[in-house]
Amino acid sequence: MTVPPHAPDDTSDSSVTSPLSRVKRLTGAPSGPIIGIDLGTTYSCVAIVKDGKPAIVPSREGHNTMPSIVALTTKHRIVVGHPAKAQMLTNPTQTVFAAKRLVGRPFMSDTVQQVKDQFQYEIVEGPDGEAAVRLGADVWSLQHLSAMILVEARELATAALGVEVQRAVITVPAYYNEHQRMAVRAAGKLAGLHVERIINEPTAAALAFGHARKQAKLVLVFDLGGGTFDASLLHLDDKVYEVLSTGGDTFLGGVDFDQRIVEHLVAHASQKLCRTFEPDTSTRQRLVEAAEAAKRALSQQAETRIHVPYLVVTEGQPFDLDLVLTRPELETLCAPLIARTMDVCREVLAAGGKQVSDLEDVLLVGGMSRMPAVHEAIFALTGKKPTNAVHPDEAVALGAALFAASLGQEEGITLIDVLPMSIGVGLPRGRYKKIIERNTPLPHAKAYGIQTVKDDQAELELAIYQGEAEATDENEYLGTLKIAPLPLGPRGSVTLAVEFALSAECLLTVTAREVSKNIEVKATFSTRDTPEVVKARLERNNRIAAAVKAAQVKMHSKPQLVPVPKSWFGRLKERLFGA
Ligand code: AMP
Repeated sequence: MTVPPHAPDDTSDSSVTSPLSRVKRLTGAPSGPIIGIDLGTTYSCVAIVKDGKPAIVPSREGHNTMPSIVALTTKHRIVVGHPAKAQMLTNPTQTVFAAKRLVGRPFMSDTVQQVKDQFQYEIVEGPDGEAAVRLGADVWSLQHLSAMILVEARELATAALGVEVQRAVITVPAYYNEHQRMAVRAAGKLAGLHVERIINEPTAAALAFGHARKQAKLVLVFDLGGGTFDASLLHLDDKVYEVLSTGGDTFLGGVDFDQRIVEHLVAHASQKLCRTFEPDTSTRQRLVEAAEAAKRALSQQAETRIHVPYLVVTEGQPFDLDLVLTRPELETLCAPLIARTMDVCREVLAAGGKQVSDLEDVLLVGGMSRMPAVHEAIFALTGKKPTNAVHPDEAVALGAALFAASLGQEEGITLIDVLPMSIGVGLPRGRYKKIIERNTPLPHAKAYGIQTVKDDQAELELAIYQGEAEATDENEYLGTLKIAPLPLGPRGSVTLAVEFALSAECLLTVTAREVSKNIEVKATFSTRDTPEVVKARLERNNRIAAAVKAAQVKMHSKPQLVPVPKSWFGRLKERLFGA
């Protein structure tokens, strides 16, 4: 079975068609082969294991990777991959790239607000307060856009294997937070895929490296992709892959290198034009394309010419941007970015309790790691030449496919991962208390004890965050656990044990139990309300509880103990992970 080329863009219908319209809902237990998908920021890659051998599934156009780009064509069709990339220059406002950076982030979060103007497409607030994208008249959530890429991956693998694919292992950056992992799971579901497991990209790359190598090794995986950076320290021993520590930055990748070059080009144009040059959307897009091409060329050669004809018309005269960029110039522009990656590597080694001299191999993953200055910086830091045993663009998908194939096997692969960022709770006055420290091996569970602070307190809310900063508002808000109704009693008499349980794939479940009577307490985990909204509601509810109490005292009747509803755990789990 071969996968057909993309349908011609000739629909005359004005309604929008998207790849999601081809998704069949999963009914019954998913079955059949499990594929590996590397859902990258700039490129995605699909792999399968056929006859015991891992293999990449080429795109419809015959490439081993496909651009992670989704676009709305002028004929109201949503296209994915190479056809979407092809319209990037002519239709930049309707072409969504690097959207993975926004996955699982609320629209109002600082991160989204800071970066939203860097994109030419329009980033808007989705119905649930999440960052979303407007294409034509429709607003698509990031989950839907990722799902469109996953549909393409599923269809490619279905054609390659000759059987309907319903199951996948999907990789995410090691540094992804809880929300982002949940968002990828949700995207898989929208694409008609049952996500058997989410694994971290560097772990998958190490798997591709360790496959068929039996010896025990300590390796550093340096993964610099289009939009994110991760460094992970792993110990490989036959079929056991143990992550010792991990670190990174979800806002450091190839697009930041491109941005540095664009700034340089804008400064050059301003100098030549003798005025401040402010490129409009499409001109900026042309500069980004030229910058990216120059950056790639400089990985092979010492200098390259950047020529952007008709960049702007000034006083009736067209102005061509024409300059030579050398490798040392590029390296100076990007030095702070590379220095940042080296800082993370040092932190990761220290967190794993290892010295650079303990390292046996350094694996480079992600297209951006091809830059010679990256190789040199790694050599300067570790004294080791990075191995070329894995393909930087394909290793992650191949590793995911190998892991997928081992699922359910008796002698399968064992992955031991760590928590990439600490998880904790918000305290009064904006302080943050870590409950589970970063780099804790997974799975892991820890209880946190809290008491009521008021007489007859009817409910309690706990805001949960992820990050390392001391102030709550500098960390990622994950959601609020609402525990109610509580047994009434004097302040301090009701003690709750809140359990934070992290699964092997780093998904969080939070549950609560009243300690003195050892009863389960109803708890709901909401990710929509901000802590301010929760605080206001809590204050109002406590005022109501106080008024009720006052009325009860007046009537000389004893306050009633509120019955504890059953099966709250099931409902919480459903809320967190879906039915
Ligand atoms: P990934 O997300 O792993 O696909 O990374 C793609 C990123 O790698 C993009 O920012 C590319 O511009 C960059 N890239 C790909 N090839 C090269 C190269 N030869 N030299 C420098 N950067 C590259």
